[in-house]
Amino acid sequence: MSAYEQFQNHIAELSDILNAISILKWDARTQMPPGGAETRGYQLATLSRLAQEHFISDKTARLLDAVEAEIAGEDEDSYRVRAVRQTRQYFEIIRRIPLDLVSEKAALEPVSEHVWAKAKVENDFASFAPYLQQQLDLAKRQAEAIGYQEHPFDALVFEYEPSMTAAKLRVLFDQLKAGLLPLLQRIVAHDRPLERDLWVHEYPLDKQRAFALEIAQAFGYDLNRGRLDVAPHPFEISFTRQDVRITTRYSLNYLPMALFGTLHETGHALYEQGVDPALTRTALTIDFLGKYPVGGTSYGAHESQSRLWENQIGRSREFWEVHFPRLREYFPEQLARADADLMYRAVNRVRPSLIRVEADEVTYNLHIMLRVEIEMGLLDGSLKVNELPEVWNAKMQEYLGVTPDTDTDGVLQDIHWSGGGFGSFPGYTVGNVMSAQFLEAARRDVPGLNDALARGEYAPLLHWLQQNIYRHGRAYSASELLQRCTGSDLQVGPYLAYLEAKFSDLYQLGAYAH
Ligand code: ZN
Repeated sequence: MSAYEQFQNHIAELSDILNAISILKWDARTQMPPGGAETRGYQLATLSRLAQEHFISDKTARLLDAVEAEIAGEDEDSYRVRAVRQTRQYFEIIRRIPLDLVSEKAALEPVSEHVWAKAKVENDFASFAPYLQQQLDLAKRQAEAIGYQEHPFDALVFEYEPSMTAAKLRVLFDQLKAGLLPLLQRIVAHDRPLERDLWVHEYPLDKQRAFALEIAQAFGYDLNRGRLDVAPHPFEISFTRQDVRITTRYSLNYLPMALFGTLHETGHALYEQGVDPALTRTALTIDFLGKYPVGGTSYGAHESQSRLWENQIGRSREFWEVHFPRLREYFPEQLARADADLMYRAVNRVRPSLIRVEADEVTYNLHIMLRVEIEMGLLDGSLKVNELPEVWNAKMQEYLGVTPDTDTDGVLQDIHWSGGGFGSFPGYTVGNVMSAQFLEAARRDVPGLNDALARGEYAPLLHWLQQNIYRHGRAYSASELLQRCTGSDLQVGPYLAYLEAKFSDLYQLGAYAH
């Protein structure tokens, strides 16, 4: 057996263990009775330890040495070379993280999340502050262990968005704010209530599910390799490209919740289902640092696809002109007096709000920037934990013109920091920006794409995305994918132009007057 085959077999076993962990997690979040929580915890802990031992073992070191010698001189762009190179890179990084740090993080997480959940309900930031401080101290130790050039945030964001640094994010955010803040002001000045409120009716859940799944399949989601379930916090999860599952949640009145939740996760799922079969069980479908078996190359790249399908397609005028008649067949009475135009406006209403997960396309990134700026401040010491509520509220007022009455609706709203997830937020905004660059490139490359989309035909778009992005799994970084597809790195231009065109039209803003 060649050194590459031995290396590949070893990585395939790691992939199998990680996929088994993911199945247990999916089950815990969708099917498991509450009584199963404790023993499920043991099962996950045991398998996670086995995965960790398998990867940081001397065997991995030996196999890497052997395979590196064997493939020396091969094409640098080949999947084989890239699989070995990425495994080596993450092997060295993970071996630098001390085991006591790993176990301290694992032990703190459930306690910290529990305290946060209680603090959120009781609007009691002070009770959570000491745990946030502990999470921050661990994150700083993690950043020192991984290493960075300029800012400790660089080491942490690397886990989610390897092409990003604090310095690059600051530039990106300044460019975005310069476009978003004036656009938001103009929209707020032109806001007018919809003629009728669509969300006072009841929309039976089985019909909501049927319509959402019909659209997911129209986008190209393959149910022979997928399924849709209910979860309180919707997510997509894959156990190789052959089994890619999505979840959503329902509101009886608010139709957009389940529909756009499903379309968002469908975007993630299309990415995973589109990975080249040759990459199954290889290093190019493993997120080593996050310890997930996942085909997408970064959080941002993944979010670029969920957001492309959810927002740029699902919330477009063309989409509603094609699909509204079908939706009305499901809900003839509820939608008797509505039309495609009203629905289009209803699912694109812009309103500065307090809660990130409810934010529209224009305000969403402002919520993200506020969080990332706070994380950077905490990590470089320019901000103290006890200053957070005040800083949060001041930034909300500055960016969105609203101030939360409580920390429950402010600094305590997201679970991320209670689990120590510093560095994960930029992916959402990077994904938004990338999604517009990718769609612009697809429109340039695929003749008649706009006409196809206007007819509700999504195969040409899906095919372009598969060929240029999905099939490569994690072989290329987000930066490399952008370069290959668009000829440039991350650029805010296409995204700001998309928002400007869409919302100028929706809110009849006219030409931009300074
Ligand atoms: Zn997502």
